[in-house]
Amino acid sequence: LGGRITHAIHQMRNATIIDEKALNECLNEITRALLQSDVSFSLVKEMQTNIKKIVNLQDLSAGHNKRRIIEQAIFSELCKMLDPGKPAFSPKKTKPSIVMFVGLQGAGKTTTCTKYAYYHQKKGYKPALVCADTFRAGAFDQLKQNATKAKIPFYGSYTESDPVKIAVEGVDRFKKENCDLIIVDTSGRHKQEASLFEEMRQVAEATKPDLVIFVMDSSIGQAAFDQAQAFRQSVAVGAVIITKMDGHAKGGGALSAVAATKSPVIFIGTGEHMDQFEVFDVKPFVNRLLGMGDLSGLVDKLQEVVPKDQQAEFVEKISKGNFSMRMMYEQYQSVLSSGPLNQLYSMLPGVSAQMMPEGESEAKIKRYMTVMDSMTNEELDSSNLKAFNESRIMRIARGSGRIVREVMEVLEEYRKMAKTFSNWKGFKMPKNGDMSSN
Ligand code: GDP
Ligand code: MG
Repeated sequence: LGGRITHAIHQMRNATIIDEKALNECLNEITRALLQSDVSFSLVKEMQTNIKKIVNLQDLSAGHNKRRIIEQAIFSELCKMLDPGKPAFSPKKTKPSIVMFVGLQGAGKTTTCTKYAYYHQKKGYKPALVCADTFRAGAFDQLKQNATKAKIPFYGSYTESDPVKIAVEGVDRFKKENCDLIIVDTSGRHKQEASLFEEMRQVAEATKPDLVIFVMDSSIGQAAFDQAQAFRQSVAVGAVIITKMDGHAKGGGALSAVAATKSPVIFIGTGEHMDQFEVFDVKPFVNRLLGMGDLSGLVDKLQEVVPKDQQAEFVEKISKGNFSMRMMYEQYQSVLSSGPLNQLYSMLPGVSAQMMPEGESEAKIKRYMTVMDSMTNEELDSSNLKAFNESRIMRIARGSGRIVREVMEVLEEYRKMAKTFSNWKGFKMPKNGDMSSN
């Protein structure tokens, strides 16, 4: 996808006169790319129409950075499509909230239930899990295993076959035990969809959830819209979680799920493990959907400012996503000397704004560098924040003559940058110099 879009944008930039025909060609190319990324056909059409309204042809022909204008229009349009305009219900600590999970079998409900519970437990909630999947053999064992690992109370039965009864019993029990977040996992059997939706309806009616979360596998492709809509029609879906974002799928189905349920995506699953779970963040998600934004410009810039023998190494660094503290240090160095590397970084969408500490003041950068001067080589080369335990932080503060809070600030700044760079994972520099994310 990144390759196609890069190509489209590249063509656009090379056209001397930007007319409607060129804009259409560019949009068509991007349309094909988004379709490949599982964005539904009707949504792509809608985006196309909106872009044409936003992008003023006169601005384009007069403006110097046509590529940027179109790119930004597409970016913000996709962001808008992911925003249904109302936030999802968030559990309160003052009264028990009931959250019901729905989705097809294999979507990742049971896994995600535990992740969701674990996430809130770390935030000080008292979550509990109820297994209302009586359809799949082993469903209760799976939930029990997950819950035990996370030390979260659970409820279920090996013998009772009525999911409504178990759901109600579980919810009642945990209300009595003063749990403030009661999570109901449900079955998602395939092939018997009419009875599945009836079951969802009954469980929802009996437990009166404050929030129903639709869990969707990112790799289901164009089926996303119909699937999300089918669930939405039987239960009042209020939020979406997209799973398996660690795989190949770019997750374009998320746009469909939002459109079909009129609910926001709240988390994404990025692995099988309990803490491979992230609060959904629109911008990096759209970046990923589009591949790498300003690639064509980046290639030019790269060839301009980085010596030929270092280009591959540079691309490798940013594409690995394991951005080290030392790279942050080098970035600051180049900011201070207004070096070309800084210009290069500024070509990466989503990076430039985060490359400098808040306030952007030189003094602040210098203080941050003083803090980093007291880090060991091992610390500078690590990309693991967990290595910075309390005693190390104290040592760095003492060594640099700064206060602990400042060391923490540097670490936080590093965390933000590393997160941004993780969006650029997997980019390659092909031999012909035409970079592509595929
Ligand atoms: P359910 O049938 O909807 O309850 O789905 P499960 O929770 O049992 O998950 C089905 C499979 O997907 C299991 O093997 C999970 O480990 C796996 N899975 C769930 N979420 C993720 C994820 O975010 N990434 C990966 N790689 N696997 C996941
Ligand atoms: Mg399950």
